[in-house]
Amino acid sequence: MSEHPDQDSFDPSAAAHGFGRCGCGRPGRRLFTAGLLGGALLPAWAREGVEVGKKSWAVDLIPAAQVEQGAAQQYQQMMGQEAGRRALLPVEHPQTRRLRSIASRIIPFALPWNERARQWKWEVNLVVSPQLNAFCMPGGKIAFYYGILEKLKLTDDEVATIMGHEVAHALREHARERMAKTTGTRVGANLLSNLLGLGNLGDAAMQIGANLLTLTYSRSDETEADLVGMELAARAGYDPAAGISLWEKMAQAAKGAPPQFLSTHPASSTRIKEISASLPKVQGLYERAEKPPQRFEVAGPLR
Ligand SMILES: [Zn+2]
Repeated sequence: MSEHPDQDSFDPSAAAHGFGRCGCGRPGRRLFTAGLLGGALLPAWAREGVEVGKKSWAVDLIPAAQVEQGAAQQYQQMMGQEAGRRALLPVEHPQTRRLRSIASRIIPFALPWNERARQWKWEVNLVVSPQLNAFCMPGGKIAFYYGILEKLKLTDDEVATIMGHEVAHALREHARERMAKTTGTRVGANLLSNLLGLGNLGDAAMQIGANLLTLTYSRSDETEADLVGMELAARAGYDPAAGISLWEKMAQAAKGAPPQFLSTHPASSTRIKEISASLPKVQGLYERAEKPPQRFEVAGPLR
């Protein structure tokens, strides 16, 4: 395993400052906050931002800690393999710094979506690969593949849109939900029996990790991740309208051989329309957000 990624800049407790702006979870303060920021007194229920429903009942079927442990093991294994083939870009590479800088702006806004994020050990790595791919595993384990940065010539706002989307999947625990809903399958049954103490608990984490690689999210998970991700990016000071240019670029890219990311994330016109329709909900947040002090170069070809 090469040098372990520097986690200091992603310490969620350090990142949790600057958070008072979000009114989530504290009805008493919400009214006050909304009134202060909006310039007008809004009713307490009118949280500013996107609206998504409650998490699925199914998430409770599998302990979150197990899913996070499985994800951490899987992530470590994958990044270890990439490092082994010298395909993990170093911390000081400008594009790794760029990803980590954007992540450090988004992470402070994660907590209202999931209390567990307080303990997450966020990691952000950049893999040398032509694939158009990016993910955030449960527990905040983020990876981008160089191909998505380079081929789509992503701007910082577009990177933030993808990262927000992937982080939203983790915060809303879509993987945990999907796994719980596979209980009808053999894998799911084995997984549950392990988790219930009927099997080997070490195997359970491994099975969870392996399952994470083959999961596909539902269309509603995707919509939710688009919306929550858009709000995260806007609060972090990135233009949420980048969602439109991003998915247009994706649609363009899909005309050739469909890249991996697109097989699970169709760049449909419905998706772009939904994003456009939700922009007004986060526009105010974006306008008032502190903007990134630095803009990064678009990723060029690797030497
Ligand atoms: Zn997604």
